[in-house]
Amino acid sequence: MDRNNQDLKDEIIRFCRERGADLVGFAPVERWDEAGEVPPEFRPRALWPFSRTVIVMGIPMLLPIVETTPSVLHKELYTVVNRKLDTLAYDLSRFLNGNGYASSFFGRDTYANLKALREEPMAAFSHVMAAKYAGLGTIGVSHCLLTKDFGPRVRFVSVFTAAILPGDPLLTEELCIKCGACAKCCPKQALIMHKDSVIGNYDKAACLEMHEELVRRRSYPCGICTKVCPVGEDRKLYSEKGIQKKYLREAEALAADPDDPAYSSWTHIRKWGNLRDAPAKDKKG
Ligand code: SF4
Ligand code: SF4
Repeated sequence: MDRNNQDLKDEIIRFCRERGADLVGFAPVERWDEAGEVPPEFRPRALWPFSRTVIVMGIPMLLPIVETTPSVLHKELYTVVNRKLDTLAYDLSRFLNGNGYASSFFGRDTYANLKALREEPMAAFSHVMAAKYAGLGTIGVSHCLLTKDFGPRVRFVSVFTAAILPGDPLLTEELCIKCGACAKCCPKQALIMHKDSVIGNYDKAACLEMHEELVRRRSYPCGICTKVCPVGEDRKLYSEKGIQKKYLREAEALAADPDDPAYSSWTHIRKWGNLRDAPAKDKKG
């Protein structure tokens, strides 16, 4: 391993952590070609030919707020995390450029709106695959990247650089335990488990339909599949006895009694400051 490149890698990790990145991983661009999972035009070198390494940064979505989804509070967290990631990626790109390594970044949520995703349900670059190739986690039934620290409650951004940096080892063990909670709790039944593989079927159109409803109620995004996932050290911090059963019962319990006291802290946050239905002018359209 090139000593100077390890020094540069250490300096980048310090830079990212000091600015608020909880997870930092390094993926040599060859990993996209070796794995062959991502279509060639979506790979780093097709986007920016100078790319030799993709640096992926992650920051968490806080579990107590994720549990209130769908809510304006959850929407606010999502916006803050996305903005922070974009700022981190911009700052790191400038830092690397200033040190003589051509660099650029792919922003966090690069689609115009959900209509664009309905027309073309794919982003120009996948941060989930980048995070996997940077050794930060494995993809679960929910099609989210699960991490040891935060399960799927983490968002990522990617910086492309001409610097050749040592890659982090890929995780060899699946983090998803196939408990099925994400599939059972999905309000649109968008996740179908497979017996023989971890990653199951994901009905993007059904998931998108849920998000379209939530955009109309100004409570986008959904994220119920990330809320209920038992994987992640963050759960220990907020540990609550019987939480998995509580998640699994939630939809039925609230359908029977919207004021069920077991869910009152979440329903209180959903109730106040949130639209209960789509605004009239949205409905007409
Ligand atoms: S985001 Fe919501 S609708 Fe989409 S798969 Fe997850 S739980 Fe289902
Ligand atoms: S909820 Fe269970 S099945 Fe779904 S991703 Fe998490 S561990 Fe896997």
